Amino acid sequence: MGISLAGRALERGDWDLETVAIREFGEGRHRVVDDTPAGGSPGMVLRADVLARAIDHASPAGDERPRILLSPRGEPLRQPLVRELSAGPGVVLVCGRFEGVDERVIERRSLREVSIGDVVLSGGEIAALVLLDAVVRLLPGVMGNSGSGETESFEGDLLEHPHYTRPAVWEGMAIPPVLTSGHHGAVERWRQAESERLTRERRPDLWARYSRAR
Ligand code: SAH
Repeated sequence: MGISLAGRALERGDWDLETVAIREFGEGRHRVVDDTPAGGSPGMVLRADVLARAIDHASPAGDERPRILLSPRGEPLRQPLVRELSAGPGVVLVCGRFEGVDERVIERRSLREVSIGDVVLSGGEIAALVLLDAVVRLLPGVMGNSGSGETESFEGDLLEHPHYTRPAVWEGMAIPPVLTSGHHGAVERWRQAESERLTRERRPDLWARYSRAR
């Protein structure tokens, strides 16, 4: 997050990140943060009391920022939530480790569970980076060409059309002639048709939603 668009925006102070190490709120001399699962099973679970102390430090009562727990059980992260977060007052991200976190802290600290996909990571930190990257690029002034935010994949349930640039012919392959024709209407129609084709072929789920909404 320290390089490129997000990094420059960080230097400008357009956004900022404070990290909290859960271990600092651990129990005893060894700063223990986890324990064995009630009911027995392999692995360890982050303790509710320890995690709640870390959350209360990062996000005291009255904090209006949403609290999100990165979790494979959560609602899938999608662009509408990213947009909502980028327009909001900020976000508190809780990263799990081990087998996960004690269920009670999810309830008591109103953690909204969000997943970055149907995969299991070893910790929530990389998932948090995925969410942060998506949100930060939408902050005002962060993206160089802010217009490019609106035609992208998932805006309006369609995947983006293919892109081409110079050279005009590469390894015997030409750029589709319509894109160099200078007819803006024809270009738009080609892009729309390609977006629809790709979505139909690759993402039947998005295609169904798009077709219903039309
Ligand atoms: N036992 C859990 C997986 C724990 S993975 C289960 O089967 O559901 C350890 C931590 O990694 C989780 O607490 C979560 O914070 C993070 N994590 C793993 N996969 C994730 C995903 N797809 N999205 C968001 N966070 C994830």
